[in-house]
Amino acid sequence: MNRRHFLGLSVTGATMIMGLEKIISHKKTEKMPALFIGHGSPMNAIETNDFTRMLSQLGKTIPTPEAILCISAHWMTEGSWLTKMDHPKTIHDFYGFPKSLFDVQYPAPGRPDIAGDIQNTVMNPVLHLDTENWGLDHGSWSILRHMYPEANVPVIQLSLDMRHSAEYHFKLGQELSKLRERGILIVGSGNIVHNLRTINWETHSKPLDWALEFDHWAKEKLLKRDFKALQTDFLRTEAGRLSVPTMEHYYPLQYITGLASQSDEIKFEFEEIHNASISMRCFSVG
Ligand code: ZN
Repeated sequence: MNRRHFLGLSVTGATMIMGLEKIISHKKTEKMPALFIGHGSPMNAIETNDFTRMLSQLGKTIPTPEAILCISAHWMTEGSWLTKMDHPKTIHDFYGFPKSLFDVQYPAPGRPDIAGDIQNTVMNPVLHLDTENWGLDHGSWSILRHMYPEANVPVIQLSLDMRHSAEYHFKLGQELSKLRERGILIVGSGNIVHNLRTINWETHSKPLDWALEFDHWAKEKLLKRDFKALQTDFLRTEAGRLSVPTMEHYYPLQYITGLASQSDEIKFEFEEIHNASISMRCFSVG
């Protein structure tokens, strides 16, 4: 993939006479990569470590997006919802952390027009528009403030409809794939291994055996592009059941495998287990 900064905009005479919505959908940009980011502890938002340096580098090397669509583990809903706001608020959806973390604001704008365009692009399921309730939760801003510290790239969030299985989220990821041709960077933010009951707050504490085992299993399935196994087999082993005790941090992965095409390279951008039982595995597609 060509990683130079590139925002080629080509509007033909034919599209010029159409409405704004049509012009948006005819923008020609380099096909954007997509990212799965294992976000880990909220403290990563205000720390500098190998993980946050990797995020900063990603922000500099991938083409600057028109907007970011972030599927965060921390927005769980009935139905799938998009934020449609000019100024999404920074949500501090955690407890027991230092005041300096609660002081963080990430004032990236929204793009209500693009949220409407995404809604029109996805026919099934129907995506609902949220104009006032949500904003940006730490699944988004804790990573984006390293990638785009100036908060100058608009951000839209898509919620997780928790009534559904992994297959539903994979299929919705497939539906979103065409947004990559419109300059939209799709980011799934979760963790492949995420067990808070076994956590050790020392970042580099020894990884638990089952966490390593499941993280390795997921890596192998990604390399073999066996996305079906990632949807249907992840709870078949004790390691899987311990690594995915709840679904919300696992589901964002499904969107990013769903939108991967056969020709997309899958590249691991970061591979570590933090806090004994949190996989920080990150990969790019495209
Ligand atoms: Zn989280």
